[in-house]
Amino acid sequence: MELKARLLESSRAMQDELVAFRRYLHQNPELSLDLPITTKFVKEQLIAMGYEPQDCGKSGIVAIAGGQRPGKVFLIRGDMDALPVEEAADVPFKSVNGNMHACGHDLHTAMLLGAAKLLKAMEPDIQGQVKLMFQPAEETLAGAKNMIEAGVLKAPDVDAAMMIHVMTGFPLPAGKVIVSQAGLTAAASDWFEIHVQGKGGHGAMPNNAVDPINAATHIFQAIQTIHSRELAPGQAVALTIGKFVSGTTSNVIPDTAHMYGTLRTYEPETRTFVRERLEAIAKATAEAVRATAEVKIVDGCPALNNDAALVESTRTILKELLPENDLLDMSVLTGGGKMSGSEDFAYVSEKVPTVMLGLSAGNADEGYRFPQHHPKAIFDESVLSTGAAVYAYAAARWLDEHSKA
Ligand SMILES: [Zn+2]
Ligand SMILES: [Zn+2]
Repeated sequence: MELKARLLESSRAMQDELVAFRRYLHQNPELSLDLPITTKFVKEQLIAMGYEPQDCGKSGIVAIAGGQRPGKVFLIRGDMDALPVEEAADVPFKSVNGNMHACGHDLHTAMLLGAAKLLKAMEPDIQGQVKLMFQPAEETLAGAKNMIEAGVLKAPDVDAAMMIHVMTGFPLPAGKVIVSQAGLTAAASDWFEIHVQGKGGHGAMPNNAVDPINAATHIFQAIQTIHSRELAPGQAVALTIGKFVSGTTSNVIPDTAHMYGTLRTYEPETRTFVRERLEAIAKATAEAVRATAEVKIVDGCPALNNDAALVESTRTILKELLPENDLLDMSVLTGGGKMSGSEDFAYVSEKVPTVMLGLSAGNADEGYRFPQHHPKAIFDESVLSTGAAVYAYAAARWLDEHSKA
């Protein structure tokens, strides 16, 4: 039987098993780099399939399929972490521990396990090697970096890499596969804090005090002008203060004010420029009203860069596998623009050619009304076998195409 028919048939046959994997993970969601139950489960499954899974960094797991024939190395990644959200979805396999797989990473882990099983069954035919990357801490943007530092892209060296993210609540029917456009898509993300030091005093005598709320509100306004006055109109930036803390009561001028925000950018130069201006403007504005400001910026992750040639070959390869209407371009969602969400697979995209895929797992018309990260978010499990087949087929066919001399 040809590869495509064989993979589709085998992936459909394992649908119930993938649902069981996913539900177990869904009931036991864990956070960030601390995934003892999840990693134990993944390793047990891989061992049962005949793999020798290796630990990679904190809570990362790597397994390799193929290697019997010479060729290149293709990496497929599934993230495994959940969110500190109390689940409010009405499902029979509800989370038991106060966290929630509200982003669908439980589906990714199950799909990658499915791909592992498919690839094991066709191992003698794999032209090169497929590296399976089970990643922790995507939500905290620490997992990919942690695994790269632990050597996930080395020995054997990875030539190209792919990830899939499920999507719920988007206006697309379940089962559609979306290939990102080439170039920078998901945004770079940084956190920042601005701490304003004033001088507290009596609300009736502001002249004897230095009001940090006054300084902070000036800073709040002034940093928004970076985007509108200092960058070209085409430059996309999101700069949001999501937390603003100061004071205790109405007639006391407090000592300090604190702001916490997030910054999303695409081009590295823009990212550097906005970070520098944010700090300079905050300090100078505070001084203008007799206060001082300290700015702390924490690296989140860079923007995700999809490799043009890999995007093209992935699209061509998936056209073989999927019905024509099931393969879409990311522009159906973004109108040709970029996503302002972030994805720490970006760290991988800095090192090797990568491509990001989306897999639609239900829309509002189908009853999947809530967006990801929402406590009521639900996902259509019927896409699990599709996801497993896409992972395995894309990897195996890319290796076929690229391992011939
Ligand atoms: Zn998420
Ligand atoms: Zn996610």
